[in-house]
Amino acid sequence: MDENRIVSSLELEEDDGDVSLRPITFDDYIGQEKVKANLKVYVEASKRRGEALDHVLLYGPPGLGKTTLAHIIASELGVEIKVTSGPGIERAANLASLLTNLQERDVLFLDEIHRLNHSIEEVLYPAMEDFALDISTGKGAGATSIRLNLNKFTLVGATTRAGMLTGPLRDRFGVICRLEPYSKEDLMRIISRSARLLKISIDSSATAELASRSRGTPRIANRLLKRVRDFAEVYNHGVIDLAITQKALNDMEIDPLGLDYNDKKLLHALVEKFNGGPTGLDTLAAAINEDAGTIEDVIEPYLIQLGFIARTPRGRIALKGAYDHLGVKYGGVQQIGFFDGDDNNE
Ligand code: ADP
Repeated sequence: MDENRIVSSLELEEDDGDVSLRPITFDDYIGQEKVKANLKVYVEASKRRGEALDHVLLYGPPGLGKTTLAHIIASELGVEIKVTSGPGIERAANLASLLTNLQERDVLFLDEIHRLNHSIEEVLYPAMEDFALDISTGKGAGATSIRLNLNKFTLVGATTRAGMLTGPLRDRFGVICRLEPYSKEDLMRIISRSARLLKISIDSSATAELASRSRGTPRIANRLLKRVRDFAEVYNHGVIDLAITQKALNDMEIDPLGLDYNDKKLLHALVEKFNGGPTGLDTLAAAINEDAGTIEDVIEPYLIQLGFIARTPRGRIALKGAYDHLGVKYGGVQQIGFFDGDDNNE
């Protein structure tokens, strides 16, 4: 997949400026009401007790606000946040040095925690459970282990794949929150807020149109808003109305539901090559020359949310909505046995 595609939920270089769009308090953070309400209680309780907040695991597709929430948690706790990521930690010593530098009640944000090397992960177990580091010195029979105490801190882990976390790691999180794709109404509020911050004037029909094409993802909504602003600048004296929004999105080949070439490729393959499925993930990945992980994390969640495809124990199937959207006649699903939930990697 072209990682730079405009509706990619992964972070692109052009999103860098987004820092100013990041909400900094719970009240600024739109949607995810259940997650927010619970986190507010836990943060408030830990503040009252003067203790570190329990470790928090945030999971869900990219661009839904996990990093943003981690920063909000730290700022609402009134503590510092240190940021790192699974692939960014190459040696156990790097993690040990991060941990020893944390002050009492600080937050350590570990993005893509499922990509942490397993031998490094073991350093986290005593750190999370006992706030201690076990350091071994010497080799062979003379090897000894020294236990070093750490300040009590909060680990906020983020992952797109809760199912890829090892049991021992997952069990050490006291709070586990799953972020869901945003409703159109929430996305409209996010777009209005971003437009206000960026001093862009946009009418409500254009806001609604952008929200419908943002794949339930704030990161995409913000990116599309900026691109549409460019089109409005060049073609419409800077005025963002419905017509210029539709022109911009159509020119960017983003369809009315926010689907682009990659989504269509997957749907066409499932419907036409595989007769609607069930088709195993790897077979589908090979057919469209795409990485299976990208299909699972980035492409599928929105297609599932739309009710276009489903994950079943025997593979992916295309549902009637997908046929209707592609304009192909629906012949019914050949099998039953739906999956309970959508995380077949758990
Ligand atoms: P993730 O870590 O899940 O990939 P981020 O936290 O980086 O996602 O969010 C991407 C961008 O989307 C942020 O920079 C922020 O501007 C915006 N955003 C995310 N969640 C919200 C929200 N609930 N309300 C408003 N803006 C949001």
